[in-house]
Amino acid sequence: MSQSGAVPNWTNVSEARPTFVSHLECGLTGERLPADVPHNLSPAGKPLLVRYDLAALADGISKAQLAARPPDLWRYREFLPVRRSRNIVSLGECLTPLIPVPEAGADLWIKDEGRLPTGSFKARGLCMAVSMAKEFGIARMAMPTNGNAGAALAAYCRAAGIEAFVFCPDDTPQTNIREIALQGAKVFCVNGLINDCGKIVGDGIDSMGWFDTSTLKEPYRIEGKKTMGLELAEQFGWELPEAIFYPTGGGTGLIGMWKAFDELERIGWIGSRRPRMIAVQADGCAPIVKAYEDGVEFAELWPDAHTVAAGIRVPAAVGDFLILRAIRDSGGFAIAVSDEAILAARDEMAAETGFLLCPEGAATYAAWRQSVRDGRIAANDRAVLFNCATGLKYPMPPAGTPLDRHLPIDYGSLA
Ligand SMILES: *Cc1c(COP(=O)(O)O)cnc(C)c1O
Repeated sequence: MSQSGAVPNWTNVSEARPTFVSHLECGLTGERLPADVPHNLSPAGKPLLVRYDLAALADGISKAQLAARPPDLWRYREFLPVRRSRNIVSLGECLTPLIPVPEAGADLWIKDEGRLPTGSFKARGLCMAVSMAKEFGIARMAMPTNGNAGAALAAYCRAAGIEAFVFCPDDTPQTNIREIALQGAKVFCVNGLINDCGKIVGDGIDSMGWFDTSTLKEPYRIEGKKTMGLELAEQFGWELPEAIFYPTGGGTGLIGMWKAFDELERIGWIGSRRPRMIAVQADGCAPIVKAYEDGVEFAELWPDAHTVAAGIRVPAAVGDFLILRAIRDSGGFAIAVSDEAILAARDEMAAETGFLLCPEGAATYAAWRQSVRDGRIAANDRAVLFNCATGLKYPMPPAGTPLDRHLPIDYGSLA
């Protein structure tokens, strides 16, 4: 698909194309705000959603034109908010493969997001947020993170020449903390959880001149994560699967995919059939599951949050009502799995298929199995699991049998 020569055009960013953002809208009240100026939350304190002139967008691009473009995130340029190509900050956001899992004896697929820059799907959101920050001339960005978002912020900020300040819980995996530092950001390890880190960012905005890049407190990370929905639809030939199992922390990706499906229907590229959106959380931190089961619109703060799946250890999500709305409108559900089930699912998938999931991705596999067992979905329903980061970024059990080269090797004993 590359346009010329031996070097593939992975970044596809030089071509000028029209953009279609019309305004931003409060996700709760619908209040309209102007595009082309920096925003955080709406006046009601809720996430903002980016709106497009979809009629013009529909005239501006066809499925056939899209199909001819290079295989990267920027192929969806008309659906994205960046106005000027020169502001696009890219580290090579490839399309991610959809891999069937025949071993499961079901219509089961893994969307492997571990292939993206910085090894997680946080790259999708942060390439967009940082490109928009560049468009607005923002000089300093800050965020609380459980690791992967901070790594992506650091990388894209370095590429854009923007200063980055990152605050993690002090038990964040060392790999994350060190990659953040190597990629040029200032990184701080806080003796608390992500919401405690978020308070430090919020309180420092005025004195430090930071732009708050916390999950859903700026509007463009959703637009980047939305490309997961566009990509899924295109990869399945514009027929959506029956169910999507999404490891839910702040919920950016779930909200983003739901928004993508809505936009695709409005421009006539898909029909009204939707996947059931299934939010997966861990037993030790399941605020969305509790709110779903209690039938309420907003989630309560989850006390003493803990799980091996750090990416979904989010005790309070500012977009809770948007996550719950997508789950309910889609006929989906929210489900919690134990840490034991998460690690067992990771080990089993790796041993049986050769696919090393990250713990959050493994949580979706554990949840899928539990849902099939409980009859909440059928094995022959086409289901997609999100492996949101590379399994290589996480601690693994020790292995490797010692072998003394000075002694005769008993080859028969190795098998
Ligand atoms: C951030 C993250 C999640 C949660 O994603 P949201 O869209 O914020 O809910 C899940 N898994 C991993 C590995 C993450 O980094």
